[in-house]
Amino acid sequence: MIPFSMLERYEGNEALFQTVMMSVVSSYAGEPLHLHAEGLRGTGKTTIMRAARGILPTITRIKGCIYNCDPLDPHCPEHRNLSGSEIEAIGTEEIPMPFLEISHSAKVGTVAGSIDLARRPSCMPFSRAGKR
Ligand SMILES: [Zn+2]
Repeated sequence: MIPFSMLERYEGNEALFQTVMMSVVSSYAGEPLHLHAEGLRGTGKTTIMRAARGILPTITRIKGCIYNCDPLDPHCPEHRNLSGSEIEAIGTEEIPMPFLEISHSAKVGTVAGSIDLARRPSCMPFSRAGKR
């Protein structure tokens, strides 16, 4: 794969380059900007996006966590109730920032997942309001 900095820039793809750079910078700033690119086939969208993967920051996660738990704010069922010292004992690791390539034919449920309202946790605000 051609490195991002080596890709050819021209008037027709400059807007995508600039948008991708905004996304990369926002990722370094801790507020990732997600992108969706549309256009004619063969115009380099996928090549530019895939090359950007090589310049994204890494993330720190609890070692081996498949949900990429932030050691300072764990959220998955396996780690969310652990103390700081327990997390420290497991360890942390730096991994490439997750990069998801989604087919144009993907459905909303495939991309965003779904919520089972019957199994919502009791800590959700609307649950408490419903008991009044
Ligand atoms: Zn976790």
